[in-house]
Amino acid sequence: MSAESSRSNPPLQTSHPIKFLIIGGGIAGLACALALRRVGHHALVVERRDRRSARGEGGIRLPPNLTKIFFHWGLRDALREKGLVSHTILFTRYESGEYLGRQVWDQDVLRETRGVFMLMTHADLHDVLYEAAIRAGVRVRFNADVTSIDPEEREVELATGEVLTGDVIVGADGEYGPCRTAVLGKEVRGNPTGLAMYDTVVPGRYLPEHLASLREDNGVFVAFGEGRAIVAYAVHGGADYAFQFYGPDENPEGKYGDSPTVSIAEITRTLDPRLENVVRHAQDDGRLVLIGEAAHPFPPGTIQATAMAVEDGAVLAKLFSHLSEDRQIESFLFAFQDLRQARARSVRAGEFASAFFMTIDGEGAAQRDAAMKAKSTSGGNVLEGGEGEANSLWEEIRTIFGYDCEDEADDWWVQWGLLRERALSRQTDDADVDYGEGEGEGHAAPSLLDFSAMTVQVSSTASDYDAEAW
Ligand SMILES: Cc1cc2nc3c(=O)[nH]c(=O)nc-3n(C[C@H](O)[C@H](O)[C@H](O)COP(=O)(O)OP(=O)(O)OC[C@H]3O[C@@H](n4cnc5c(N)ncnc54)[C@H](O)[C@@H]3O)c2cc1C
Repeated sequence: MSAESSRSNPPLQTSHPIKFLIIGGGIAGLACALALRRVGHHALVVERRDRRSARGEGGIRLPPNLTKIFFHWGLRDALREKGLVSHTILFTRYESGEYLGRQVWDQDVLRETRGVFMLMTHADLHDVLYEAAIRAGVRVRFNADVTSIDPEEREVELATGEVLTGDVIVGADGEYGPCRTAVLGKEVRGNPTGLAMYDTVVPGRYLPEHLASLREDNGVFVAFGEGRAIVAYAVHGGADYAFQFYGPDENPEGKYGDSPTVSIAEITRTLDPRLENVVRHAQDDGRLVLIGEAAHPFPPGTIQATAMAVEDGAVLAKLFSHLSEDRQIESFLFAFQDLRQARARSVRAGEFASAFFMTIDGEGAAQRDAAMKAKSTSGGNVLEGGEGEANSLWEEIRTIFGYDCEDEADDWWVQWGLLRERALSRQTDDADVDYGEGEGEGHAAPSLLDFSAMTVQVSSTASDYDAEAW
């Protein structure tokens, strides 16, 4: 039997469809819209770019906690058509190319996580989600630039002056879109970490001979350097390789697609010369992204950036599949906030730890390399814990990959949601039920997930669906 996750289709349908107006047609917005349509809600996505420029040519990694969601949604074949399944990670030193060891994705891990580890480009994934969303009945409007948001009126205004309304407004417009600022009342930035990521795709023919094994098992190549690192993998069916170069950077601001502020020559100054061809090609078309809270709540290029964006939509839809009355909307949003904030926080901490693990220098780097080489020499997987090690990096990764966000949303419903419904149904004569009780006690209506891809703004009452306006 396949270890990959599958689930019955169609999923539970809401008995009370409402309108979700989703700002931003990136991966988060499209995935959220698709998930909501699957459970019977109406979804309109407004994206300020045209379809082509909303897609990026860089690579993305889809970890098992993400692919399992897509498998549940029936996207297995579409993903396999565009992406490659990866089986190994190859670790080397950045400066010398010295081999440190390998990590093999064994069957047990995959069985446990019920997903696979896939590699593709942002554009490929965007296409898969867009096509599935349209098939499911999502409406997507490109070239629709949201200029203002009125959460109380549940309205957004486009640059053309057109006004759109929804019962729930979902902000999936990235860190620099208007939603975060609208909800918080000001721009909120975190602390830069001093690392930049230079993202590029190069033809496979530039891959040096000593990395040829990557072709056989669609391996991910990781090079650890002093303050620098590389992550690389095959895209476009193996014809090209996505390279992400990490290096020091002092700039506090930046977003995906910005022009480089540090030259690739500077970032790769100490790099193994066998990768010279890759670097030479990378100079033509690279883009620079800052790594750090200042730039992105989840930095692009990290394994979990895309996964967290999709998990948000999957959880929102799971919760709202139980919607049968308007009055439940707020409590579902409290549940969403509870579930997602805790998850996103812990995963993000892991992502930043990985970036530093790749780029530490001095004694820390020497210890890391020695431990990996020792495990490799004894024929082991290099990320797994050795004897006497209480908690290996691999255990943490397995836990993150094993998480099933849709199961967690179901658990919330069984443990809390149903209980609440039963309690409320016993008060049928009480017209003024106080929804401030329970998990949302003492809070204002949830409006922002500060550690996540999405902001959500909700109205108190759902309006009638007007197909014409949408
Ligand atoms: C064009 C593009 C290409 C990318 N390419 C890559 C890549 O190759 N590799 C990688 O690792 N990461 C890439 N990323 C980043 C990656 O998509 C995110 O890190 C992650 O997937 C989370 O996505 P998101 O949908 O939350 O945010 P984003 O990807 O930032 O998407 C937000 C969307 O909201 C839209 N938007 C913003 N403001 C408004 C507004 N006022 N009105 C309407 N729409 C608005 C934006 O145009 C964008 O399409 C790219 C992002 C973009 C926008």
